[in-house]
Amino acid sequence: MSEAQATIKINHQRKGAFIEKVKDVLPEGGNLSLCLTCGACASGCPATGLENMDPRKFLRMAALGLDDEIAGHPWVWMCSQCQRCTYVCPMSINIAGLIYEARQLWPREERPKGILILRHGPAQRQL
Ligand code: SF4
Ligand code: SF4
Repeated sequence: MSEAQATIKINHQRKGAFIEKVKDVLPEGGNLSLCLTCGACASGCPATGLENMDPRKFLRMAALGLDDEIAGHPWVWMCSQCQRCTYVCPMSINIAGLIYEARQLWPREERPKGILILRHGPAQRQL
């Protein structure tokens, strides 16, 4: 088994507050069960494999309520926000938006400096 295929451990006691927070950027009120696990998002992602993460795995972690792992995972800063994953998703899941929101969970002083991000259009802003 490759690193990217490593098993996600599930704690059913977790509430999944993050998924509540990102409902606005996801279809059908944040129903991540829509994900077909087809892997289209991960297959062309330039950040797949970095830090043992990819867009599909990140989405599953959010759906499973693994908030602690999401909140501190450095992979969110390796995503280029190119939005390829979102464009190819057959279920129109805004994965890039999900990652954007995960970045907001980081204390501002701990965020990498100088990263330009795109969100919902051409306007850029610097964190
Ligand atoms: S492309 Fe969409 S449906 Fe397919 S695995 Fe990724 S998030 Fe799920
Ligand atoms: S937006 Fe991020 S997760 Fe999606 S394909 Fe681009 S680098 Fe990968």
